[in-house]
Amino acid sequence: MRNLELQKGIIYGPVNSRRLGRSLGINLSPTDRKVCSFNCIYCHYGWTRELETNLEGRREDLPIPSAVERELRNVLENLDPPPDYITFSGNGEPSLHPDFPEIVDRVAAVRKEMGIEAKLAILSNSTGLDSEEVRKALARLDVRIMKLDAGNAETFRRINRPARQIDFNHIVENLSLLDGITLQSVFVAGAVTNADPPDVESWLEKVALVKPISLQVYSLENPPAMTGLCEVSPQVLRAIAEKVRRLGIDAHVF
Ligand code: SF4
Repeated sequence: MRNLELQKGIIYGPVNSRRLGRSLGINLSPTDRKVCSFNCIYCHYGWTRELETNLEGRREDLPIPSAVERELRNVLENLDPPPDYITFSGNGEPSLHPDFPEIVDRVAAVRKEMGIEAKLAILSNSTGLDSEEVRKALARLDVRIMKLDAGNAETFRRINRPARQIDFNHIVENLSLLDGITLQSVFVAGAVTNADPPDVESWLEKVALVKPISLQVYSLENPPAMTGLCEVSPQVLRAIAEKVRRLGIDAHVF
């Protein structure tokens, strides 16, 4: 089975997202390859060939803020009905874009000028949070859906295969400092798993530390990068979500 094709432009969709309804995507990564700080074994775009944590020197590969604004305006002018969400996602981690804060402001301004009620959202892998500017930009979004798939550094390395300098405990600490976030957690089985009871218990401890307002649990939706992975059953996902609810956190299975 083949991985999903990369997004071919800055603006894509709207896609019918199970989690976000009718969602218009914004891709701040290159359009011919994935650039990410993670190399998740379940990524539906296949393996990360360019594992990066800083794209400051790579601006020529990335959309400039005015182009994002222009293309968004063009698409929204011709879109009826408007989307439910405008979502930063795409071919990699959106907050890696060196102009991410400026782009957030421009997108928010377009929404306001055009009188569109769509919520602004991000699907993020949580690795951009060392930057104060990124944290402030995230706070200006309506919905922040942040990745946390593991409860310890070893499982984190097996599932997310991050760039070498990324520290798991530091990510958890950064997440715990954010208000009003939603966590997203993918569970996989087969060749590698993060769904064994000890993995789930240590993950629950970190979820309790982060204290999100809600949590989204899901398994494979598309063919993953790694062969030999398989879905975690809906029953197991429901049991995991129930444990999250016992922490007083709203949890949904998708
Ligand atoms: S963080 Fe997202 S884009 Fe990056 S490798 Fe993981 S699933 Fe793929």
